[in-house]
Amino acid sequence: MSDQKTCAEALHLRGKTLSKGDPIAPPLVTSSMFHLPGDPSGFAGYGRVDNPTWEGLEHLIGHFEQAPCVAFPSGMAAISAALFATLKAGDRVLLPSDGYYVTRVLAQNFLAGLGVEVIEKPTLAFEDDDMSSYQVVFIETPSNPGLDLCDLVAITARVRAAGGISIVDNTTMTPLGQRPLDLGADIVVASDTKAPGGHSDLLMGHVATRDEALLARVRDWRKMSGAIPAPQAAWLLHRGLETLDVRFDRMCRSAQKIAERLSSHPMLRAMRYPGLSADPSHQLATRQMARFGFLITMTLADEEAAERFINGCDLLRPATSFGGVHSSAERRARWGDAVPAGFVRLSVGCEPVDALEADLRQSLDCL
Ligand code: PLP
Repeated sequence: MSDQKTCAEALHLRGKTLSKGDPIAPPLVTSSMFHLPGDPSGFAGYGRVDNPTWEGLEHLIGHFEQAPCVAFPSGMAAISAALFATLKAGDRVLLPSDGYYVTRVLAQNFLAGLGVEVIEKPTLAFEDDDMSSYQVVFIETPSNPGLDLCDLVAITARVRAAGGISIVDNTTMTPLGQRPLDLGADIVVASDTKAPGGHSDLLMGHVATRDEALLARVRDWRKMSGAIPAPQAAWLLHRGLETLDVRFDRMCRSAQKIAERLSSHPMLRAMRYPGLSADPSHQLATRQMARFGFLITMTLADEEAAERFINGCDLLRPATSFGGVHSSAERRARWGDAVPAGFVRLSVGCEPVDALEADLRQSLDCL
């Protein structure tokens, strides 16, 4: 299905299910109990297991993913569900050493203690691994924060041929920017805290898979671990998703223009953006991504230059996380990522692009 059709239909998914007099906007149901006399089968039973607001949300996310999905209260809850649902003692899991660091800490601090062998490699090195010795391979492309890419078709095919399960963290791209399930992945995980929510006012995540057995295990994990979304957050995410297409389109277009216009600024030691034709990941990006995303990385001379750049912009919030309507940026070395001290991850938001570019440029000019 084309993205145009997907996004057009997304806005009418709920409408098509309505009866006369039903509200167009989805109701927010917070009830933990349901009216349940007699035989309970086939009906909502208890709020840890069933919630109509989650179901409406999962219907919409599933439409974007073109796969069934399970909603979670954060991206990390979704990642935990995918890993705990697929790994057991004695298994080996491969993780990106340059991906979102909390996934690695989770594996080292919890999975390793349960007898899972945790192996880490840079995203670029995934290309050279035959993938034959892992039960689960966790991929993040583009890697966060370095924006390196690896070939999803080739890698997921090798994982599958070896009998393993591939999980792709698609947080930075959203289903509108990249569809890992169509490229061979078994499971997609994502933090919907970022662009899908889009307004920096909620935390949510999801797991999507077309494998019914894996989906059932992930659902069981949510039911038994109790890692359930708050109905309020699910409701807010549903609202955010209705404008994801508009926001994501603006953010990606603006990121492309800003990367093109600022990449040769003399104060920058380096810039990475998959949409730049000179970027090392550009060729692969054009093959496997529908859009080039809204994240740009800039390397300035040192910590002081990077901090002065960020704080010298009126239209940039100095904040961790990304994907909001407000552009934001931060030095990733402050969290211990293996990047230079002057490395800045910039999340391009929804401000009009010429105003945003002028603001970023004046701050760079002042360094
Ligand atoms: N995956 C990636 C790539 C992320 O950048 C993040 C958060 O920054 C997460 C997962 C975790 O998401 P959450 O903060 O919603 O748990």
